[in-house]
Amino acid sequence: MNTYDVAVIGSGPGGYVAAIRCAQLGLKTAIIEKYSTLGGTCLNVGCIPSKALLDSSHHYYDATKHFATHGINVEGLAVNFDQMIARKNEVVAQTSGGINYLMDKNNIDLLQGVGSFKDDTHIIITKEDGSSEEIEATKTIIATGSKPSTLPFIEVDKKRVITSTEALSLTEIPKHLIVIGGGVIGLELGSVYSRLGSQVSVIEYMPTITPGMDAMLSKELQKSLKKQGIKFFTGHKVTSVVNNGDEVIVTADNKKGVPTEFKGDYTLISVGRSPYTVGLGLENVGIKVTDRGQIETNEHLQTNVSNIYAIGDVVKGAMLAHKAEEEGTMVAELIAGQKPHIDYNLIPGVVYTWPEVACVGKTEEQLKEAGANYKSGIFAMRALGRARASMDIDGQIKVLADAETDEILGVHMIGARAADMIAEAVIAMEFRASSEDIARSSHAHPTYTEAFKEACLAVNDRAIHS
Ligand code: FAD
Repeated sequence: MNTYDVAVIGSGPGGYVAAIRCAQLGLKTAIIEKYSTLGGTCLNVGCIPSKALLDSSHHYYDATKHFATHGINVEGLAVNFDQMIARKNEVVAQTSGGINYLMDKNNIDLLQGVGSFKDDTHIIITKEDGSSEEIEATKTIIATGSKPSTLPFIEVDKKRVITSTEALSLTEIPKHLIVIGGGVIGLELGSVYSRLGSQVSVIEYMPTITPGMDAMLSKELQKSLKKQGIKFFTGHKVTSVVNNGDEVIVTADNKKGVPTEFKGDYTLISVGRSPYTVGLGLENVGIKVTDRGQIETNEHLQTNVSNIYAIGDVVKGAMLAHKAEEEGTMVAELIAGQKPHIDYNLIPGVVYTWPEVACVGKTEEQLKEAGANYKSGIFAMRALGRARASMDIDGQIKVLADAETDEILGVHMIGARAADMIAEAVIAMEFRASSEDIARSSHAHPTYTEAFKEACLAVNDRAIHS
């Protein structure tokens, strides 16, 4: 029987990063993955394929809506959807292959099959052909991720009533895509198909889309996406989804409780994701899970069985690839005897629509609720030379800072390239910068990042360009 210092179950961004960091720290490491491709949800049916389709559809949308104004005439412009999906598949294959390379390079043993605990130091790996292998591991890191959730009365047939996984591999562009859930995944995939010509209706139970984000972001994003043609039905409670073969009928009660009917050819269920622990054999080791199905951990991501850790989507916190990665690194370093730390307040959140949305730290609503003494500065993208040069004038940046110390407490951005720009705010907050620190740092002109500097200047009422 092979023995390891560390076994990692699951090869998503949490698992593969944990495995690499363990190997870098000199620990003999194995990674167990039930699928034949590595990379988990993120690489195969999440971050990467969705961004590939967002990028392709963005090019098409730009060509149809903006090229003529730029003085570029395009004739015979059309979508080759098969090619778009094929390119997405190629990007996924290349990225996943890259993880195999990294496992090899770091001398990590790759064990393909479903990993299941026999006891706290033994794992049985069952392969697709039914054969199995047992290994011994001093420590184990569970990184088994999550799966799409649904509502109890909805049957996901994966043909017409679909999850994000199917939405990334459709064979045709929907005529009318009904999106149930106005969160990040629903809005990103809704954007893809809206740009490609689908009618898109987003039904959201809460009064705003992207619930939990700063209200300014939700409002501005909804305004921008509405301009692009997406229809929003917030405050609507879906009560039934009937699949008639080629047509799906969704019924939702509006704000006054009146039922409204939506008819479409596809319905995307994007109401969140649930932690995935099926087949892990947690019961054989007595690992506790919460009533939401998440593996319970302490602040060191250690389960109630002290040599077994859990990270990523399968534990509490934001279901984000970069949060899983940070946790993978932290656990590997803890196992190696180091003292790492994660500041969960500084994990950024991003929506890759256009304009992009990105945020870090506290929302204005959270600060108000906590009775914090804060000041804020807002800068509109349309006042920026760079934004006008590229005709990306939608959006704004809001900076929230402590009223006395001026320390930045939260940054909320909507605009072109916000996903990349948020990194500056994360770094600033990691170093506990004041808004004055950013306001006094030179930002290249003309760039979108000047909007962050201007918003910091605005915190103290001295923005230059507004
Ligand atoms: P996962 O990536 O889910 O990986 C878990 C792995 O464990 C899987 O490969 C699974 O097969 C394997 N596994 C499970 N059980 C076993 C077992 N018993 N034995 C062996 N293997 C097992 N996040 C972002 O940060 N940015 C984005 O842009 C983004 N976009 C997204 C778009 C979509 C459409 C979706 C669905 C998600 C997106 N996410 C995004 C979320 C991101 O994908 C997840 O947060 C991330 O993948 C979580 O990583 P993980 O390592 O915890 O688990």
